[in-house]
Amino acid sequence: MKVLVVNAGSSSLKYQLFDMDTEEVIAKGNAERIGLDGSFLKHKANGVETILKKELPNHAEAIALILETLTDAQIGVIKDIKEIDAIGHRVVHGGEHYTEPCLVNQKVIDDLRGLVDLAPLHAVPNTDGIIGCMQVAPQIPNVTVFDTAFHSTMPDYAYLYGVPMQYYRDYAVRRYGAHGTSHKFVGQKLAEYIGMPFDKCKLVTCHIGNGSSITAINNGKCIDTSMGMTPLEGLIMGTRCGDIDANVIQYLCKKTGYDVNKITQILNKESGLLGITEKSSDMRDICEMYARGEKPAVLALEMLAYRIRKYIGSYVAALDGVDAICFTAGIGENTPELREMVLTNLNYLGVKFDKDANYSIPRGDDGLITTKDSAIPVYVISTNEELAIARETVDVVLRKFQK
Ligand code: ADP
Repeated sequence: MKVLVVNAGSSSLKYQLFDMDTEEVIAKGNAERIGLDGSFLKHKANGVETILKKELPNHAEAIALILETLTDAQIGVIKDIKEIDAIGHRVVHGGEHYTEPCLVNQKVIDDLRGLVDLAPLHAVPNTDGIIGCMQVAPQIPNVTVFDTAFHSTMPDYAYLYGVPMQYYRDYAVRRYGAHGTSHKFVGQKLAEYIGMPFDKCKLVTCHIGNGSSITAINNGKCIDTSMGMTPLEGLIMGTRCGDIDANVIQYLCKKTGYDVNKITQILNKESGLLGITEKSSDMRDICEMYARGEKPAVLALEMLAYRIRKYIGSYVAALDGVDAICFTAGIGENTPELREMVLTNLNYLGVKFDKDANYSIPRGDDGLITTKDSAIPVYVISTNEELAIARETVDVVLRKFQK
């Protein structure tokens, strides 16, 4: 079975074609600058990268070029698009209704369009990507895999905010979380590593990337997660402030003369690691600054590590214990300095940090970073959201044909 995984953003569309018999990626790439001048497709297959320059006024044109490229006699990897059995789409927000991956029909499209207020940056491009596929290749089934779905099992006392209930009833104001596909994927691997069934253990998964979230998983189900109604809540991120006193917004409006939209933009795009270091949101830059002993970078890492520790502590309390913890995503997998800061201070849990192991995990590999006698094992686990989406897509399509 071959599955194309699509991750559509506002001006880009990333794709990976999987052979699901082996779970190998046979081609991948990215259509960039969709709807802008200078659009192009970067396509990689058989170890060769090709750049194709072409005007891509919309997502449908991008999909058309991707399918053309995948079937190209020279740089393609399949003979006919009929070889693609399904397309799996990453969808950032499924609202309250979409708690599982599902096969796309017109109702799904209409519902996703209705979620635009909850996910203003993603709902439109995600839907455009799906519609593009339906237009260009109507014979291929499309499956939506929602970033919020894994978090749909949170109890009401965890997902509700302490605001008048009317705002939940009328406007669906609540915690939804994000990165659910990744938390589930690494959670399942973590359970495997510690030799326990996923549905019979307590886990804390730390997805630390440009966007970051931590999730508490009890018996295979999410019971709490740090991102909120939007991705702004929780940890300090690349450019997002994370948890903040909501009154800061009104105070800053008064002091700066900016309106609420401008302050909201600052909290989302100019805060976090970028705001603290006043230089970069990118952890690679921050690590270089940290190695030179630059104070803003030291502070940024300390602030991030401190907040991760606080979340781990609160989720261990929420879970009433924990069997294992893991770090994943761009920063979680690649920044041993940060992991050290977090783990050397988890003595109350009996976490015994293994410094050598922490600094010697090869890029892209998984590994244990606590000692064998640590009360709680902590792992680095490489996430693969695309593969997770491809697997979910296969499940949905197989279920459909079994009916
Ligand atoms: P997102 O998916 O949210 O865009 P990623 O999970 O790709 O984010 O993580 C991006 C972050 O990971 C960036 O801050 C980047 O600097 C960091 N990162 C990636 N590779 C490395 C590395 N080798 N060393 C340190 N940080 C890294």
